Amino acid sequence: MLTIHDQPLPYVAKLPDRPASAVTLVVIHCTELPDLATAREYGERVLYESGAGASGHYYIDRDGSIYRYVPDTRVANHVRGYNPQSIGIELVNRGRYPNWYDSHRQTMTEPYTAAQIAALRALLVQLRAELPNLHQIAGHEDLDTARVPASDDPGREVPRKLDPGPQFPWAEVLAGSGLQRIDARH
Ligand SMILES: [Zn+2]
Repeated sequence: MLTIHDQPLPYVAKLPDRPASAVTLVVIHCTELPDLATAREYGERVLYESGAGASGHYYIDRDGSIYRYVPDTRVANHVRGYNPQSIGIELVNRGRYPNWYDSHRQTMTEPYTAAQIAALRALLVQLRAELPNLHQIAGHEDLDTARVPASDDPGREVPRKLDPGPQFPWAEVLAGSGLQRIDARH
């Protein structure tokens, strides 16, 4: 049995409820932050009038430890346009931190660890067993393709979301997952 550390965010009861059967999609993210503690701080921030904030359901640290911040049966705010039907999984990774929108710093260099990818694959197996209609997977970058003015040069644009980015081993994660990758760009 997979070990999942249950650490619900303070506002989970304020997130909309849904049946497990409503989940059809898992969205892969990276935190674009230095560590899990910082990701937790961001997740706890209240951003909406409802009293809720933005976070994934699951966080996977570099050592492969898995944390659940939001139950599968609550709608978390992690991806524009796809929240009601999806589960968000965040991998701890610096991404573009701290120069997310700097036009000269758009290369993500930190590799995902083998422990993270093994934990992710095990988590996907468990989610597939628990969520009867879960058949699709996407990267955040595949679904949110908006571009924003660069922080160093407003005349240039950079992707608002680039996670999980080119370091993410899609072939390895998809193999045997039973999930089909979808992409809003096609
Ligand atoms: Zn994301």
